[in-house]
Amino acid sequence: MDKTERRVGGDDIRVVTPIPHATGSESDCEHAIGHLYEFLDSEMTADDEARMRAHMAHCAPCLAELSAEELVKSLVRRSCSEQAPESLHLRIRAQLSVTTTYVVDEG
Ligand SMILES: [Zn+2]
Repeated sequence: MDKTERRVGGDDIRVVTPIPHATGSESDCEHAIGHLYEFLDSEMTADDEARMRAHMAHCAPCLAELSAEELVKSLVRRSCSEQAPESLHLRIRAQLSVTTTYVVDEG
């Protein structure tokens, strides 16, 4: 974890810095795009997510990128959930019944 905490004079004022820690040659946008999937998958900390939102709020290219990825994600999700073949259902059910018959009553 390469978290860079920016504190403002030790005050308790919460400043939402647009996007976490742009380091070296990495621009804010590169960083935002690099963490796009973490954002979409809700794998960011609340702080990082807030900063991500703050960046997206005033960065049209990144917002467009996010929307595109969101669209792709929703399409993939839909096509994946479309078909769980009946044979799979039956096989799982068969497995479950096998497992339950293992319970032996030893009186
Ligand atoms: Zn950007």
